[in-house]
Amino acid sequence: MAKRTIDDLTDAEVRGRRALVRVDFNVPMDDRGAVTDDTRMRAALPTLDALFARGARTVVLLSHLGRPKGGPDPRYSLAAVARHLATLTTRPVRFVTSTVGPDAVQATTSAAPGTILLLENTRFLTGEEKNDDALARQMAELGDFYVNDAFGSAHRAHASTEGVAHHLHPAVAGLLMDTELRFLGDALAKPQRPFVAILGGAKISGKIDVIDALLRKVDALLVGGAMACTFFRAMGLETGTSLVEADRVDMAKALLSRAKDTLLLPNDAVVAPSLDAAATPHAVARDAIPAGEAMFDVGPRTCEAFAQRIAGACTVVWNGPMGVFETPPFDRGTRAIAEAMARATAAGATTIVGGGDSAAAVDGMHLASRMTHVSTGGGASLEFLEGKVLPGVAALDDRSN
Ligand code: ADP
Ligand code: MG
Repeated sequence: MAKRTIDDLTDAEVRGRRALVRVDFNVPMDDRGAVTDDTRMRAALPTLDALFARGARTVVLLSHLGRPKGGPDPRYSLAAVARHLATLTTRPVRFVTSTVGPDAVQATTSAAPGTILLLENTRFLTGEEKNDDALARQMAELGDFYVNDAFGSAHRAHASTEGVAHHLHPAVAGLLMDTELRFLGDALAKPQRPFVAILGGAKISGKIDVIDALLRKVDALLVGGAMACTFFRAMGLETGTSLVEADRVDMAKALLSRAKDTLLLPNDAVVAPSLDAAATPHAVARDAIPAGEAMFDVGPRTCEAFAQRIAGACTVVWNGPMGVFETPPFDRGTRAIAEAMARATAAGATTIVGGGDSAAAVDGMHLASRMTHVSTGGGASLEFLEGKVLPGVAALDDRSN
């Protein structure tokens, strides 16, 4: 069921009112407290602008930051994030040192029209992650309607992402959330075929469910990363010192026999004795991985084969790097996929990147703008691809038509 968005709100629901917006400002910071990557913050700005354009009086922001344990911790204060936000917008930004309670409510009602308020870290409150109902009710007093724009947190049922939506209506999706749901949702629900998915990353264990779900939908599933090594072991190949999850080999066997021709594994690998700069990497066929070496990337023949599949696809979804892209030259496989996807986008295909490290890789290669969509949600996009219902989405108002 489609969810109501900001665009569906009536003027009476927005004008002169306080918008309580859950954003995902869980941004990386350096030890001096400066924001080092503000992608998530900039991604939320269109929602804030849209709310003011619709006549909202005040925008009240809730977010978590990091993983503070059991109470307030200055290292995780959103004060520094508020300062950074002030540099991204011409509107006045005010930081509020409390998250809920009389002072916070007072700040939301007394702020000058046009002000953006950022409240303190939701995870300073013990009820947040427990989705405590009393806390959710307190949060509901901070606004006159609720907007969830935190796609990256939507797979968690917390007071600020799920509970509050039961006590404050309208409860609608923000523009960023709506974009994520539309791209990921359409890709899975009605993909233009051929539909090709690419999976990589370190571990197969966290991605079994997504392999399973995608195998039912795609025309081809291309597997790279260390994940491929667990499949190699399942095929009885030598994997040397590669990262293999021994306790998942049986599961990999079962997936292989079920997948038949849909699942494509690398046919060659770039191996080295270690990730050391001095260790010389070389490409070998997948059945010739030396006993003392590890696969750190897919090989050149694989890059070519995967790129060809991507070129022939109309929908491409990618999660997980093909190799240890953080350590060149083991970034070549990941780069080859990103470039093939960029070319596919230009040729008219829908290309979607999900996953924290994959998105970072595409960003680092300056190819993000050449994808149809790069998801801001790591874990959330993975759960979405698994076909799970995200609680933060489910709690929002359904669209009537
Ligand atoms: P994402 O965040 O995009 O979902 P993951 O977190 O699953 O991706 O995996 C990313 C990590 O996988 C990267 O840190 C990368 O170095 C690692 N990785 C990829 N291929 C290999 C490999 N062959 N051996 C060891 N690590 C790998
Ligand atoms: Mg990751």
